[in-house]
Amino acid sequence: MTVCNSCRYCEGLCAVFPAMEMRRSFSDGDLNYLANLCHACGACYADCQFAPPHQFDVNLPKTLAIARAESYAAYAWPRACAGLFENNGVVIALIASLSVAAFIFGFSVFNEPRALHGIHTGPGAFYALMPHHAMAVLFSAALLYAILALVMGVRAFWRDIGEPVGMRADAPSLWQAIRDAGNLRYLDGGGVGCFNEDERPTDRRKIYHHLTFYGFLLCFAATCVATLYHFLLAREAPYAWWDLPVVLGTLGGIGLLIGPAGLLAANWRRDPDLADQARTGMDTAFILMLFLTSFSGIALLLLRDTAAMGPLLALHLGVVFALFITMPYGKFVHGLYRFVALVRYARERRMMGNT
Ligand code: SF4
Ligand code: SF4
Repeated sequence: MTVCNSCRYCEGLCAVFPAMEMRRSFSDGDLNYLANLCHACGACYADCQFAPPHQFDVNLPKTLAIARAESYAAYAWPRACAGLFENNGVVIALIASLSVAAFIFGFSVFNEPRALHGIHTGPGAFYALMPHHAMAVLFSAALLYAILALVMGVRAFWRDIGEPVGMRADAPSLWQAIRDAGNLRYLDGGGVGCFNEDERPTDRRKIYHHLTFYGFLLCFAATCVATLYHFLLAREAPYAWWDLPVVLGTLGGIGLLIGPAGLLAANWRRDPDLADQARTGMDTAFILMLFLTSFSGIALLLLRDTAAMGPLLALHLGVVFALFITMPYGKFVHGLYRFVALVRYARERRMMGNT
């Protein structure tokens, strides 16, 4: 940070450099703020005259990636769960496997033996394997726990980066941050694109990230609409192809297949000097969880009238349940911390009289 603050060659590339230049010294909170403000586009490494083999050994994308990953563990709630960020790929894989196994076991034990491989069709078909109220209670509890843990983590981060707890962001800063996060403004290397396997920037990672993010939002919207259908209209899943929850889920599911697959391929090809190699497992596990959520959901949609419905429902519910409970302890948190850092940055810029 000190070298960059003297050099300032990269100040037009992203939000990190202007935010850095507002400071002369850097507390842990400041470094965590800058680390989460970084979108890992790699441009400052490609442009840096002090990058290796120069003796200054400046590699900002990698340094900030390491600091960013350490900040996830530092703000984990409860504190006892911070260790889940170590060997995160293995932890997520284990939890997901156990979760899927538990649903298969539950479907087999709490129903007659042949129910798991039976053919169930029409409204309420899924509930032949697991009652709707059991599903609602289980998944609501998992989601509420995840939200609580995420809110506590964000609260600690917000306080650590210099904003008092209870201080709410002003509406223009919030709106600016929503726009910057929504179009991934700082994942474009200052306008040329993201650096991956070579020194030719592209927008590939940005496009795959958009597909993943908006695909996830559409899938979440599909679940919310289906819940409203159930409780307000007394209409039971599964729904027809043309019904709103299925349309939203299908569109979101396609995005959530292409986006994670593209990100995974881009990560594999990426120059290892740009990333925190020790956290490859965390990145890969999160991307695979999103891919599996979509894959199992679309497979369930296509094969719901066949004997494969039971195992596919167990797979889908198992993956989604694991995704919910591991959200505060995996790569999912990067979106929240990055958004909060963008809010802080927008506030700082407003206070400095810039836009
Ligand atoms: S990354 Fe390199 S070129 Fe860019 S500001 Fe820092 S020291 Fe200067
Ligand atoms: S990697 Fe990209 S977003 Fe991160 S500090 Fe460098 S230029 Fe900014």
